[in-house]
Amino acid sequence: MTAVANSPVREIISSIHTDLFIDGRWSPAASGDRFDVLNPATGERLAQVADADTADARRAIETAAAHQAGWAATSPRNRSEILYRAYQLIIDRADEIASVMTAEMGKPFAEARGEVAYGAEFFRWFAEEAVRIGGDHTTTGDGGHRIVVSRQPVGPCILITPWNFPLAMGTRKIGPAVAAGCTMVLKPAELTPLTTLLLADILVEAGLPAGVLNVVTTSDPSTVVTEWMDSGLARKISFTGSTEVGKILLRQAAGTVMRTSMELGGNAPFIVCADADIPRAVDGLMVAKMRNTGQACTAANRVFVHRSVIDEFTEAFAAKMSALKVGDGAAEGTQVGPLVEPKAVGKVAALVDDAVAKGAQIVCGGSPIEGPGSFYPPTVLTGVGLDADLVHTEIFGPVAAIIPFGDAQNPLDPAADDEVVTLANDTQWGLVAYLFSQDVDRCARLSAALEAGMVGVNTGLVSNPAAPFGGVKESGLGREGGRVGIEEFLDMKYTASPIRP
Ligand code: ADP
Repeated sequence: MTAVANSPVREIISSIHTDLFIDGRWSPAASGDRFDVLNPATGERLAQVADADTADARRAIETAAAHQAGWAATSPRNRSEILYRAYQLIIDRADEIASVMTAEMGKPFAEARGEVAYGAEFFRWFAEEAVRIGGDHTTTGDGGHRIVVSRQPVGPCILITPWNFPLAMGTRKIGPAVAAGCTMVLKPAELTPLTTLLLADILVEAGLPAGVLNVVTTSDPSTVVTEWMDSGLARKISFTGSTEVGKILLRQAAGTVMRTSMELGGNAPFIVCADADIPRAVDGLMVAKMRNTGQACTAANRVFVHRSVIDEFTEAFAAKMSALKVGDGAAEGTQVGPLVEPKAVGKVAALVDDAVAKGAQIVCGGSPIEGPGSFYPPTVLTGVGLDADLVHTEIFGPVAAIIPFGDAQNPLDPAADDEVVTLANDTQWGLVAYLFSQDVDRCARLSAALEAGMVGVNTGLVSNPAAPFGGVKESGLGREGGRVGIEEFLDMKYTASPIRP
């Protein structure tokens, strides 16, 4: 476990600014307080970053508000070029950024490199969108009046990001805000602030003017964010995190009727039909379950497998799961990193114990790995009952809960489709659903019936900057990425004028 301690990542981290970034300057919190950032693979301290409170929060939102009009007046091409330069800088510094992410969040280095590529793409995508903000021009029915529809930046934005994708969740929000001409205050998750601080530096190097992006780190998110929500200066909040916190923010947003984008929790069903290509479904589940060690809102949470193929599927899947190499994400060959903090291991262990107490069988894994570090092994459970807590909770760990459906003797019975759709939709969440079948009609029918903002058909990965990411039900409001991504940061304005005065 000395890889991180002795590696160049120490040097990279010591070069990252750990103060607050407000109005283009780095400064400590008014209180002088700082909090620790730890490496989840070793438990060791990586850095101490500024711990903001109300006074710092106030200064940040006032700065964003003061710069809004000037920033909105810049040309789309100028904003586009800043994003494009930042995209290139991220790609140029991919190894450096990935090693910081691995150190503070735990994901294996190869996966962190993947996130760098994914995260950078949001800047390239929104660099392209910045110069395509359109409108409409028509007339009233009687021909007497002109109707001009234009789009304007919504105004100063509050951006709140989670710890699981420290780079991509930042670029997915900063990209469209910059493209649209919004200023912003950004609060990264307290577990993983270093990647965001590094990103702020990259944006400065790319030419982002002072005051457009203000980054505030804190160990007390509620105080800082409440100051912003109640300031009357912010016009929009874009949040990615738990449904619980999302609901608090929605209530707070009502106070000033603020625009909201909410990317909240999930409880994704992963459906393997009797006619699925089994090896493909196994590979799909490896991605949908194990990306980020299961710590993703898109993670397959409930795996519904048709009884006629369940033994074949479970055996092949468990073989792949047990072969995975668990360890420090910075070490050569690691495929599964630690969970983000010790508390997460306790939560996953309790969910597994509960499922087992209610009748599930452990095929592999099933108990925490001793420290140092927060490790839980890849785990496969079969025969999971619908009363198990993990059926109704985001597991956020490397645990696949396999639940049978259908009649083993009658694989083609269409009643199985109805049964699995009912099971899949029996949740308050609706972010993503995965579906494996080789029958094109079944795929079309089931994807239409699944209550989810996104459906992966014969694929375990739906995230892409070109696609509208987001959920229905308690998984959130609005979409990030795709053509509509920038709309979340724009207000529509309709101007009427007489054609003949
Ligand atoms: P998770 O359980 O995945 O950590 P959270 O919703 O707690 O998800 O955290 C997501 C983001 O929300 C983080 O940046 C965190 O600091 C922030 N956060 C947590 N509590 C609050 C709150 N009461 N108000 C605003 N932001 C919060």
